[in-house]
Amino acid sequence: MGNPDLNQQLFDRARRSIPGGVNSPVRAFKAVGGTPRFVQRAQGPHFWDAQGTRYIDYIGSWGPMILGHGHPAVLEAVLRAAQDGFSFGAPTEREIDLAETIISLVPSLEMVRLVSSGTEAAMSAIRLARGATGRSKIIKFEGCYHGHADALLVKAGSGLATFGNPTSAGVPPEVVQHTLVLEYNNLAQLEQAFALHGQDIACLMIEPIAGNMNFVRASLPFMKKCRELCTKNGALLVFDEVMTGFRVALGGAQSVYAKSLPGFAPDLTVMGKVIGGGMPLAAFGGSRAIMELLAPLGPVYQAGTLSGNPVATACGLATLKEISRPGFFETLSARTASLVEGLKYAASQAGVAFSADCEGGMFGFFLLPELPQNYTQVMRSESARFNALFHGLLDRGIYIAPALYEAGFVSSAHTEADIAETVAAARQVFAKL
Ligand code: PMP
Repeated sequence: MGNPDLNQQLFDRARRSIPGGVNSPVRAFKAVGGTPRFVQRAQGPHFWDAQGTRYIDYIGSWGPMILGHGHPAVLEAVLRAAQDGFSFGAPTEREIDLAETIISLVPSLEMVRLVSSGTEAAMSAIRLARGATGRSKIIKFEGCYHGHADALLVKAGSGLATFGNPTSAGVPPEVVQHTLVLEYNNLAQLEQAFALHGQDIACLMIEPIAGNMNFVRASLPFMKKCRELCTKNGALLVFDEVMTGFRVALGGAQSVYAKSLPGFAPDLTVMGKVIGGGMPLAAFGGSRAIMELLAPLGPVYQAGTLSGNPVATACGLATLKEISRPGFFETLSARTASLVEGLKYAASQAGVAFSADCEGGMFGFFLLPELPQNYTQVMRSESARFNALFHGLLDRGIYIAPALYEAGFVSSAHTEADIAETVAAARQVFAKL
């Protein structure tokens, strides 16, 4: 054992020069308390903190690291690209390769534009939807996160006739006055919202499997109704697949819904995380007719100095190539399911109320007897018990998201032995909950 306070020392130092010591709030462990682990290096399904302690990583950079850390083919592609130059501000062939690859894997896409973050992609998709429809109002759902663009940092207002309230200081009320926030999976509210505002709605944006309230699926009837009402009212259905894209299935969550709802497709899709393989890269796309409204062809402005960055596109391309191999998602899904089943069994043996769900390499679990259907139900989880579970696992070298409203991620580098180690640790923690 080295100095027991190396993570704490770094955290203390970080807080002097970086607000809260972190560059994205959830990393600060504010919800669960304790000291954030400062990562020294990572390999496969593991990372090592400042103390040299090893953790099994179920965050994977919040989704991108679907191959685990340091996959040799991805590393080689990145190193080779870096040698040829970091950024040009001029087009490269690799951007075409990546766009063509994404389009070939997701049938609803005819064109994509590459950007550098999910926030940028979601913000741009909304501008495009507004530009395409000539309307201002948008629908989002409580518990869904689409990045931190002003118009999306909003919670429900006092009723359906009113629009949202900002959830962050610095967002003027006028900026969110066009954002209507509805309850996820609530069919009646959805119908009422379209009855009241249908002709003014530019788009409905949704996480089809919501990963920012842990893991909540949009029900089939709800998704079907979203599609029907958007079509009927001339609004665009925008899928935020930043988390689910190339993560829950090769064709994203839309391919999962299309299995049960033949012909189902969103009008626009927002992607990020896995398509960059851990580098800053995101995208949005849809039909040619809509996408050609973007500058330089059309009137909707959108741009980026680092968009389509050559090193990031190399990383994304190599990642997509690996996950396109036959059997990749079958193996990943089976491994994720075995984690979820193992945790469920361990909880039931200990008499702990527990529910869990997964799709592809994404999972969620709740200290609740039934899977929740919306944000209010997710928040019924007792945070004190979740925090005890989180720290119990962390002390045993298992790193899950430090907040009860975040999903988890399994990579192809996680082995059955990693899963068994995780379930054994959970069994010990459940016994004490
Ligand atoms: N949409 C979803 C569904 C997300 O999960 C996230 C980030 N977790 C974003 C958008 C924003 O992406 P970024 O953090 O890259 O801006």
